[in-house]
Amino acid sequence: MSYVIDPPPVASLPVRGSEAQFPVHRIYCVGRNYAEHAIEMGFDPDKEPPFFFQKNPDNLLAGGRDFPYPPKSQDVHHEIELVVALASGGTNIATDGALDHVYGYAVALDMTRRDLQGVAKSLGRPWEVGKAFEASAPCTELVPAADIGHPAGGAIWLDVNGERRQDGDLNQMIWKVPEMIAYLSELFTLRPGDLILSGTPAGVGPVARGDRLHGHVAGVADLQISVV
Ligand code: MN
Repeated sequence: MSYVIDPPPVASLPVRGSEAQFPVHRIYCVGRNYAEHAIEMGFDPDKEPPFFFQKNPDNLLAGGRDFPYPPKSQDVHHEIELVVALASGGTNIATDGALDHVYGYAVALDMTRRDLQGVAKSLGRPWEVGKAFEASAPCTELVPAADIGHPAGGAIWLDVNGERRQDGDLNQMIWKVPEMIAYLSELFTLRPGDLILSGTPAGVGPVARGDRLHGHVAGVADLQISVV
């Protein structure tokens, strides 16, 4: 196979305990999957089921590198999230057994240009300008489920400059991980290498250049980055 231009590199994440990388196919993100966060965004979690949007694989910022404050925004928010990485996929996957498709887990930030997302929402436009920009998905190394199992509960929090901003528990997810996989697989053909960002607990807010962010998911990983 030859290409008329150089092909882009394969987006990937490091894997704890391995020299090999995890290649990333797509990034699905679930919105408003923690009730308290849905409420803080002005929605009723009982009336607003979660929904999905996507980021681009090359939006990943791996390895604890600095997060560059993006252009065209004065209101960039942090959203700490558990990442689910798929080793296999398919369509119409049953909830029972959905976890068999999971390779492992990671911790990521769904960085959001909230001002641009707000304009898009108000005009009924797509969210890419708010969600799918360069470096908008800082992410830790993947941790294989073979090593840690499948976390369904446990602390998820984010500190900004040592102060707790987001604080929740994985057991507060409205849609659980197996339900997300099953639902997505009815809409899309899931593939090995797909990531799912599973939503964020309450407490989202703005970041500024110079901020130090420390995110944590119990039993999974810690994500520490600076905003530059
Ligand atoms: Mn999010």
